[in-house]
Amino acid sequence: MDFNEGANLDPGQIRDLRGVSGGIGGRVVAGGGGLGVVGFIIYFLLSQLGGVGGLGGSVPLNGGLSGLGAGQQVTANDLSSECRTGADANANHDCAIVAIVNSIQDYWSNAFSRSGTTYREATTTFFSDSVNTGCGVADAGIGPFYCPADEGVYLNLNFFSDVLQRQFGARGGLFTEAYVLAHEYGHHVQNLLGRSDRVNHNDTGPTSGLVRLELQADCYAGVWAHNATTTPTESGEPLISNITQDDIAAALDAAQHIGDDYLQREIGGGRVDESQFSHGTSAQREKWLTTGLQTGDPAACDTFNTNDLG
Ligand SMILES: [Zn+2]
Repeated sequence: MDFNEGANLDPGQIRDLRGVSGGIGGRVVAGGGGLGVVGFIIYFLLSQLGGVGGLGGSVPLNGGLSGLGAGQQVTANDLSSECRTGADANANHDCAIVAIVNSIQDYWSNAFSRSGTTYREATTTFFSDSVNTGCGVADAGIGPFYCPADEGVYLNLNFFSDVLQRQFGARGGLFTEAYVLAHEYGHHVQNLLGRSDRVNHNDTGPTSGLVRLELQADCYAGVWAHNATTTPTESGEPLISNITQDDIAAALDAAQHIGDDYLQREIGGGRVDESQFSHGTSAQREKWLTTGLQTGDPAACDTFNTNDLG
């Protein structure tokens, strides 16, 4: 995956709070079904992992050591000086993430306006230890997630190397990170369309609304990727110059390593319990990501009106 050197980035869509503590005495927000928090992977496994990396632990990392009071945050880091163009995105990983977020939002902004509606931009927040969100305080162990209350995507960048690659065994790579981001922005689109409100977030199972919501987000991620190299920025040129077959293979490999059945079997101790499915099986996640990739059409992602989830 590469970026057009001259295309302009909009780093204002990213808030970089790495190294900033979100507060003490907080609680983990994921799994708080009533809040509608939607993540990238099944949550209860994260809560069982615990330990190194603070995965889903109930005690926030650095709690009590940071010296920051609850709700207090120091100044965000500034990406605007280093992330200006596609050339910066080709050279610098943080800037690549900025470019990916810009591209995803450019796509949805265009798609909404084609259908006569208005897309509202969502901010992506990078964090490292813990972060205050409209859905509560999240600690570092939580996977990428979307909080509908503040319409924010939250991303601990260490998730990719520490969890997705090392613990789950996925190949990883930049386009895999793009898939994860596009999945979370898929949840934002669902929120804007009122889709997530019609789903009971506490109801799991192989044909549950939650699984349909997650598979649709995977499909939306594929839809963006299909259109990424032809989506113009405000300056007219697409930000992303190419996505290779190897990139797509890596994203499908990631999908394979985050299916509910895979995680339950390989990470959670071996027993597959369909009643706890929240994101779909590996095969289903690959299927819906592929559907989006091949069609490039959000209408093809109607996971709520099909008996064939895969
Ligand atoms: Zn999700």
